[in-house]
Amino acid sequence: MSTRFSFSLQATDGRARSGVISTPRGEIRTPAFMPVGTAATVKAMMPESVAATGADILLGNTYHLMLRPTAERIARLGGLHQFMNWQKPILTDSGGFQVMSLAELRKLTEEGVTFRSHVDGSKHKLTPERSMEIQKLLGSDIVMCFDECPALPADHTRIAESMRLSMRWAQRSRDAFGDRQGHALFGIQQGGDVEELRAESAEALKGIEFDGYAIGGLAVGEGQEIMFQVLDYAPGQLPVDKPRYLMGVGKPDDIVGAVKRGVDMMDCVLPSRSGRTGQAWTRRGQVNLKNARHADDPRPLDEQCTCPTCRHYSRAYLHHVYRAGEMISGMLLTWHNLHYFQELMQGMRDAIAAGRFDAWEEDFHATRDQGDIERL
Ligand SMILES: [Zn+2]
Repeated sequence: MSTRFSFSLQATDGRARSGVISTPRGEIRTPAFMPVGTAATVKAMMPESVAATGADILLGNTYHLMLRPTAERIARLGGLHQFMNWQKPILTDSGGFQVMSLAELRKLTEEGVTFRSHVDGSKHKLTPERSMEIQKLLGSDIVMCFDECPALPADHTRIAESMRLSMRWAQRSRDAFGDRQGHALFGIQQGGDVEELRAESAEALKGIEFDGYAIGGLAVGEGQEIMFQVLDYAPGQLPVDKPRYLMGVGKPDDIVGAVKRGVDMMDCVLPSRSGRTGQAWTRRGQVNLKNARHADDPRPLDEQCTCPTCRHYSRAYLHHVYRAGEMISGMLLTWHNLHYFQELMQGMRDAIAAGRFDAWEEDFHATRDQGDIERL
């Protein structure tokens, strides 16, 4: 197994790409979807079940873990992989985005962000240097630069100032990260929905040099149309020979549109969060298991799906356990949803390798447009 972090681009079809990221903890097939394990768990799933869905890598959240149980405690207990029993690669975010969305009494300065914990009100400070230290304590395989971004829409001045601050923080993150063989540091492109600011950000990051490049500041309220407009140029501003990671995306059609535009990696809480609220994602779109139409339906969620939920349980059962507030409801729906998202990625990887992404995409949309199966 490789002792270094590397990316090998294996096929392209239009702007869509497939490849493999090699790390000492295993290979990540791209395009990759990363389930989110916020608090050292993908909620309602055992780690081996997450792996069984086809996930090669998980995302962990610096902000949550630094507050509870703390990065120092996780380091004493052998690091995040050992702590949560997940031996494959882990990517951690920098904490910057979540501080801005979750913490209380935030104060942003050139040095970093001070804030109060949403858990217990305790006071904390995150800087590029501290974020690198925390992600090292966690033992993260892919470390993200500390950054900051506005919600969209935002005015040009706000987007530009925020992007330039994030680029200064990217240099400080690079300096603090140092040289850690087998671990990668990704820079994060900012610039909102302004093409020239995205270009300026990409140039700044390329000047610093990173192992991979994220497209940040999207999926922050701008909607799919604007996101796709940005993705029509943003991936092309980044190096062709490094992985490109679109943060916080998304719904299945967002994911397909992003891959089509040259994105290699994504993460989102959607499949797991939806699973806990009675929502399933299938080839034929979204299915709400709360709905009474499922109460007597002996059919599986998706007859073609090979996940344990679809092989062993009926819609009627899924409806019942959701209504009864049983824990297995979140477990079964999360498993199916994660399986579906991974199957989607595999379908795209195969289609790109075979040079038939357009036909695959057409079929993806046509199947979804049929909507859920007819009621009995
Ligand atoms: Zn299924």
